[in-house]
Amino acid sequence: KVAVRARNLCKVYPNGTVALNNVSLDVRQSDFVVVIGLSGAGKSTMLRCLNRLIRPTSGELSLFGDDITTVNGNKLKQVRRRVGMIFQQFNLIRRLSVLENVLVGRLRFNASLTKRCCSMFRHFSRQEREFAFDCLKQVGIADLAFRRADALSGGQQQRVAIARSLAQEPEVFLADEPIASLDPRSSETVMQILTQIHEERGIPVLVNLHHIDFAQRYGKRILGMSKGEIIFDGTARDLNCDN
Ligand code: ADP
Ligand code: ADP
Repeated sequence: KVAVRARNLCKVYPNGTVALNNVSLDVRQSDFVVVIGLSGAGKSTMLRCLNRLIRPTSGELSLFGDDITTVNGNKLKQVRRRVGMIFQQFNLIRRLSVLENVLVGRLRFNASLTKRCCSMFRHFSRQEREFAFDCLKQVGIADLAFRRADALSGGQQQRVAIARSLAQEPEVFLADEPIASLDPRSSETVMQILTQIHEERGIPVLVNLHHIDFAQRYGKRILGMSKGEIIFDGTARDLNCDN
């Protein structure tokens, strides 16, 4: 089953930079893909096209068979809901508690509510709060539920961000350099959590990394990008043979 399909994707930024040059890719339901490449290779642009944070200049994109190449408005919101996105920056609401930050994932991108920094608990049913709590359990930080988000370490904050994505019940997970600002130990933990989510929930995962050692240890499938093109697609073992 194909989760994400890209055909002949090109992205040219307004300043003329060709960030993606004719990229075609199928991400299967069973895939845990790590995308590697030097800074500027186009990894981030590709991910941002796949959840339609940006629009490709040309080419086609589909999500579980639904064409999402040019969707906008409510259809685009639906796409963002179906795709869990993790970034290098954790983008938590600093003054809110950990649990409230996870509940933000349940707000279905209702921006007016998200911006309010008063307690959000009253907007949620008991089931919703328990669901959010379960998401925190899955990333191993349920004990931090009532701490303020900005009191946590970087690694803990990234785990909150993952829990917030889980709360959204996504069909695919995309992570753009999720460990780039973390220490080695937190990096392992975050990669293990993503692996666990993939294995337990059967969600396809696509992760951009620039550490080749992490890529080789965690990527069931590795994509190598250079200058806006996919130049390698195989397993860690294939990668070693090529070198
Ligand atoms: P990455 O860590 O993926 O390499 P960068 O540090 O290159 O990201 O970019 C950070 C932000 O700046 C991104 O939002 C990107 O869209 C934007 N950006 C990167 N390069 C340019 C550029 N040449 N002109 C305008 N914006 C850029
Ligand atoms: P990577 O994630 O592999 O570092 P990016 O997708 O961030 O690569 O960038 C690919 C190319 O596109 C780079 O040359 C970068 O400078 C450029 N780029 C990224 N974002 C923008 C932007 N918003 N405007 C112009 N150029 C950009």
